[in-house]
Amino acid sequence: MLLNTSNHLAQKIGGDRLKVLVTDKIAEEALDLLKEKHDVIFSEFSGEELLKEIHKYHALIVRSRTKVTKEVIEEGGNLKVIGRAGVGVDNIDIGSATEKGIAVVYSPRGSTFSVAELAIGHMISLARHLTYADRSMKEGKWEKKKLKGTELYRKTLGFIGSGRIGGEVAKRAHCFGMKTIAYDPYLPKDIAEKMGIELTSLDTVLKNSDFITIHALLTDETKGMIDEKALDKMKGTAFIINCARGGIIDEKALYKALKEKKIAGAALDVFEQEPPIKSPLLSLENIVFTPHIGASTKEAQIRSGVITAEQVMKVLDRQAPDFIVNKEVLEGKK
Ligand code: NAD
Repeated sequence: MLLNTSNHLAQKIGGDRLKVLVTDKIAEEALDLLKEKHDVIFSEFSGEELLKEIHKYHALIVRSRTKVTKEVIEEGGNLKVIGRAGVGVDNIDIGSATEKGIAVVYSPRGSTFSVAELAIGHMISLARHLTYADRSMKEGKWEKKKLKGTELYRKTLGFIGSGRIGGEVAKRAHCFGMKTIAYDPYLPKDIAEKMGIELTSLDTVLKNSDFITIHALLTDETKGMIDEKALDKMKGTAFIINCARGGIIDEKALYKALKEKKIAGAALDVFEQEPPIKSPLLSLENIVFTPHIGASTKEAQIRSGVITAEQVMKVLDRQAPDFIVNKEVLEGKK
């Protein structure tokens, strides 16, 4: 579908080869696709350098490292589109982009399976103490008795937020014979039913789950949602996993709950500060970490990069993108 030429965005776009800046590593397949139609520069600019260079480009493509701040957007006088090769767009100032009529596109399904598989991996790892067992054997120990685990079969898996990734986690959990319940105030009941998930209150998820997995967006509502009070409601034998965004779990409260053994354990792929240098959580035995690798698979990188490149090219070609965060830009509204 061609964009209405009278709209704000379309008026600003020319027909020739345009300049695309890529500041975070994306798949070669995506770069090749972009290069067929545009001039592409890959450079890991950030901070002052990015501010100085951005005015030369019509499109900017980032992953999570580059912070696309209000200042970057203000300096990017020629920017028509910002592409986020991934899902979370919290590193982009959407308000400022919208204000300037810059489309923000992304690749919502690119890493869905990869993140879902990592969450399942963490759940199995916690249930069977896999990381501890590995470390202990490499230290020459044989701690068979200490390493009694729990089965997933017939356990309750509680979701905090269950959209694309949560739905894929639920499918896999059903194969293990788990019951799935969720707190997600925005998930329509019929979709939850199709996912085989029972929608319930946050309290019920906290109190009844043997495993809790977080797949909500980071918003003002979810920031710090899993605080001391919430952790206190969990079963003493329960585990919590966060492969969504750092900040949804209050890390100070989590440290306290784990230190005092109020819950059995946790696994985090995402942190309030990344990397979580000097986090006291790193000193605990009953927590497992991965360094924000939810989307780090070959397949997800290619999928996310190519989908994002396609979306950026659509905007530069005056076509309506399929995955846009600020639709109002297409409608010419600010
Ligand atoms: P999605 O939009 O499909 O699902 C998010 C769900 O959160 C929705 O169903 C929404 O209704 C729900 N939600 C919103 N506000 C809520 C609230 N206040 N309480 C409970 N639920 C709420 O997104 P997705 O693609 O499934 O991604 C889920 C999360 O995973 C996001 O935070 C995303 O940033 C993160 N993610 C992490 C990685 C990684 O590398 N670890 C990779 C991709 C995505």
